[in-house]
Amino acid sequence: MARWKATRSENAEQPRARSMNKTERTPPVDCYQGDPELLPVAEALRRIDAQTASISGDERVSLRDALGRIVAESIVSPMNVPGHRNSAMDGYALAGTELPAHGTRRLTVLGTAWAGRPFDGAVPAGSAVRVMTGAVMPPGTDTVIMNEQVEEQSHEQAESITIGQGHRLGQNVRQAGEDISIGDRVLASGKRIMPAELGLLGSLGIAEVRVKRRLRVAFFSTGDELRSLGEPIAMGEVYDSNRYTLYGMLTRLGVELIDLGVVRDQPDAVHDTFLEAAGLADAVISTGGASTGEADYIGETLARLGEVRFWRIAIRPGRPLAFGRIGDAVFFGLPGNPVAVMVTFYQFVQPALLRMMGSDQAHPNPTVKATCETRLRKKPGRVEIYRAILARDAHGQPTVRSTGKPGSGLLHTMSDANCFIILPEDGESVEPGAQVEVQPFFGLT
Ligand code: AMP
Ligand code: MG
Repeated sequence: MARWKATRSENAEQPRARSMNKTERTPPVDCYQGDPELLPVAEALRRIDAQTASISGDERVSLRDALGRIVAESIVSPMNVPGHRNSAMDGYALAGTELPAHGTRRLTVLGTAWAGRPFDGAVPAGSAVRVMTGAVMPPGTDTVIMNEQVEEQSHEQAESITIGQGHRLGQNVRQAGEDISIGDRVLASGKRIMPAELGLLGSLGIAEVRVKRRLRVAFFSTGDELRSLGEPIAMGEVYDSNRYTLYGMLTRLGVELIDLGVVRDQPDAVHDTFLEAAGLADAVISTGGASTGEADYIGETLARLGEVRFWRIAIRPGRPLAFGRIGDAVFFGLPGNPVAVMVTFYQFVQPALLRMMGSDQAHPNPTVKATCETRLRKKPGRVEIYRAILARDAHGQPTVRSTGKPGSGLLHTMSDANCFIILPEDGESVEPGAQVEVQPFFGLT
């Protein structure tokens, strides 16, 4: 029988460079399935943190290709930005000494300075130069008066302006180096390159950047009931959706994907796939096989391969999670339920992968407060995560309401939602009007 339908990404270069230099191991006593004790979310995060560190290896890429990558060097500005003192407005440049203390003053207009086309004549007393935004300030001038604030006169060939009081010496002028000065550190190693960083490096004329090599992540689904797209589906079978959500989440993270397809619930098949995945990737993610009966054989298989723990985390959805190491690879065994896959990925896997990628981002998934409009049932002693819609009320204040049914198999509730509501471990049920912690799905990135 064909074990799986694999779509393999190219570029699994060997050998791999590694620096998983943290050596702390999870304690031998753990929360196995069957153990009534739940592992607090913070403790799970701490253990994952202790086992994950930045990979080694970097490469130089062109600026555009650096989008989403992690900077692997300290970038120091080779120049001032702006390079020269220039006008922040369309108007007239003059020496501050020309500003009238009372009454008005008339100045002769000598010419025009354009952005990229300076006026290089002298500007003696009693004169001014018309300047466009971004034009280099003509020699001897230090102040700009906006077009709207002068009275323009034109007699035959000669042009002049009349200015009044109330101007400030130095106004409407951008100083050289005001944004960035030569020698400033503009980006530190560990910074993720987003559109602002692309522009920032572009403004310095930097065309190539040293970035961390891409993290390699292998992933696969387990389950006898799973069918790949394009296959006919029989009673009791389902299409494999987890590999699609994982594909989406991993692609957005900017890692190199190794899609190992669907693996049947057979110890040998699972064993071989884990072994293969660990040989190809820095991190391995599987979904499914976390329910009691299946976890038994997957647990046995993993015990032969590496150091893996099954945790029952105090979180809903997403309680069962396996974590550990197979060979040199870090392993995350996510639940099978599609919503639980997304929840555990964002809460546990994504922060760890970012750390492995070399990111120094301390809080990759920030939260905000909003007023909850719906009643949310909650058991104490576990974190509960609701899918929800963040909006604004008539006064512009942030409000949030649950998308409805909490079932961890209901993927459409993720699609309806634009945020998670995160109810803390020690919290109780929420009544409408209460403030809750919200984690938006998308920010300005
Ligand atoms: P498991 O953790 O393997 O017991 O799976 C829990 C539930 O999630 C079952 O209803 C599975 O059919 C479903 N499930 C597991 N893997 C997938 C997948 N890749 N795509 C869609 N549903 C899945
Ligand atoms: Mg299963």
